[in-house]
Amino acid sequence: MSTAPSSPPIFGRIGVIGVGLIGSSLVRAAMETGAAQSVSLWDQDPSTLARAAELGLGEPAASLAEAVSQADAVFLCMPVGALATTGALCAGSMKDGAILTDVGSVKASVAKDLRTLSRPGLHVIPGHPIAGTEKSGPDAGFASLFRGRWCILTPEPDGDKDYLSAVEALTRFWERLGSRVELMDAARHDLVLAITSHVPHLIAYNICSTAADLEAVTQGEVVKFSAAGFRDFTRIAASDPTMWRDVFLNNREAVLEILGRFNEDLTALQRAIRWGEGDLLFDVFTRARGVRQSIIEAGQDTAAPNFGRDAPAEPKP
Ligand code: NAP
Repeated sequence: MSTAPSSPPIFGRIGVIGVGLIGSSLVRAAMETGAAQSVSLWDQDPSTLARAAELGLGEPAASLAEAVSQADAVFLCMPVGALATTGALCAGSMKDGAILTDVGSVKASVAKDLRTLSRPGLHVIPGHPIAGTEKSGPDAGFASLFRGRWCILTPEPDGDKDYLSAVEALTRFWERLGSRVELMDAARHDLVLAITSHVPHLIAYNICSTAADLEAVTQGEVVKFSAAGFRDFTRIAASDPTMWRDVFLNNREAVLEILGRFNEDLTALQRAIRWGEGDLLFDVFTRARGVRQSIIEAGQDTAAPNFGRDAPAEPKP
């Protein structure tokens, strides 16, 4: 639910570093809801920064230091592998009382690195909006991206009164953008996200990779006759390779733990197919269908045909 911009802003100025899908969506949502009064932008790529300014997303800064120096909250919105170094470059230029946060898809390693930057007057609060698409860049962002989606914050457990106020302000900011906020331990976040996001992406990349190998044999038939299963299942394999490389390098333990369990379950299904154990297959599929149904009931997806997205374009002759 978005709030009318007439409500007082949560932050006077925010700095958004990295104006891709998530950064530009955050800016759009903050401006639309009035959660921030003004926005300064920075991106390592000058053409991306220029494009963000052209889209009217905020004031492009001349340097990273300039983008963060007057900000009440700085949002690091770049791939996980660049968060620690960029955070360190920001911290020295940030004003007292400011919040340094991020949107990275992995939390334990990021929280450990960012925590080293906290000092009296600089509140480090790692975060992760569980919202996204397979698209990248400032043109791909949209203001409603976070609406009805969870945002997980992994604050330090032993913060003082000022730190707790900062966590409360950041929570209200994400709520203003339409998110539901949950505070969580970083390691727990990484395990949960390994099964709900990271391993599914790995499987999507892998099935595309297997299909690509088969293409040589089937001479284009895999792509030409892409059935609903392959199409729906592989949408997320269009996601940014840099982002996902960094996710797997930084959430190694949790992903390997979940992959181990996944492989065991897959082997059981493989065995059931080999030995014609129809009852077992039926039971597993029935239970799995219930899980899918509960995702829709929880409002995290739609049962509409084609997931409520537009119909695919007419096939090429
Ligand atoms: P994106 O669309 O590729 O945007 C990332 C932007 O950050 C790019 O413009 C990139 O520039 C820039 N960048 C990279 N390193 C930088 C640095 N050191 N300083 C400043 N800018 C830098 O990616 P995204 O999807 O928004 O993802 C951003 C973060 O959000 C990631 O940490 C990701 O894990 C997290 N996240 C993503 C999703 C999702 O579904 N996409 C969902 C939730 C959270 P270049 O293009 O030049 O590298």
